[in-house]
Amino acid sequence: DRRYSEETEWTALDPSGTIRLAEELAAWSAPGTVITLDGDLGAGKTFFSQAFAKAIGVPGVVNSPTFTIIKEYEGAAMPFYHMDVYRLSQIEADELGLDDYFYGDGVTIVEWASLIPELLPDNRIELFISLLENDGRRFRIRGIGEPYTLWCRKLQETKEEQA
Ligand code: ADP
Ligand code: MG
Repeated sequence: DRRYSEETEWTALDPSGTIRLAEELAAWSAPGTVITLDGDLGAGKTFFSQAFAKAIGVPGVVNSPTFTIIKEYEGAAMPFYHMDVYRLSQIEADELGLDDYFYGDGVTIVEWASLIPELLPDNRIELFISLLENDGRRFRIRGIGEPYTLWCRKLQETKEEQA
């Protein structure tokens, strides 16, 4: 895929840094937004998703969708589709019709998205989380297509303002 992409990084020294990143992306999200998350068990994929859900006004508890694969929530402005595709088989993927979510009325977060590259929409923002010392996390971020390349540039500016 030779679609234009842009990369940046976000360092969270503690959970509040992860929450700040989730709040930035939530503010720019709209129906059809797709955010993917990868990183080892315990990296903070679900933690990020919970912070994001809160930021778009999803009331109540957001749990890991490991066993249900997809969970749908009503946010204040739009639905939130939370996926964990770790256990997804091709048959299930066909049945679930992921595109209905990706191109639907809500915003989608996909945990373990790198396991299903061919099922993802072309335009998306990818977050790869790795552990730093203590409670730190590094997010390597890749925006593919619009508006996500712009999001990467805006995140870069946010970092520069904070520095
Ligand atoms: P995953 O979904 O990637 O398996 P979880 O989000 O379920 O991971 O778990 C991440 C754990 O790490 C949570 O218990 C969370 O409180 C903790 N944590 C500590 N520091 C951070 C941080 N900076 N960002 C995100 N999670 C953090
Ligand atoms: Mg998880």
